[in-house]
Amino acid sequence: MPEKKCYFCGGTIKKKKVRVDYRWGNELTILENVPAWVCNQCGEKYFDTEVAKKMERLAKAKEKVKKSINVSIKEFGKVKAS
Ligand SMILES: [Zn+2]
Repeated sequence: MPEKKCYFCGGTIKKKKVRVDYRWGNELTILENVPAWVCNQCGEKYFDTEVAKKMERLAKAKEKVKKSINVSIKEFGKVKAS
């Protein structure tokens, strides 16, 4: 990535290892230690093209699962405050 500024807020972006929640259809894969460029102001993440491609490959690969957790999706708006 040649541009070292955040596209949204103009903040400085730095290379970091991050956790990515990757959605592929109905499958959610959590990828750990992904090298990303992270904005120090708004936290927006940017990925190099090769990294993005590898994330997609990894998310679709069934055999590389390190561990599994159960993920529940809940609609926050339907929850009544008591
Ligand atoms: Zn930003």
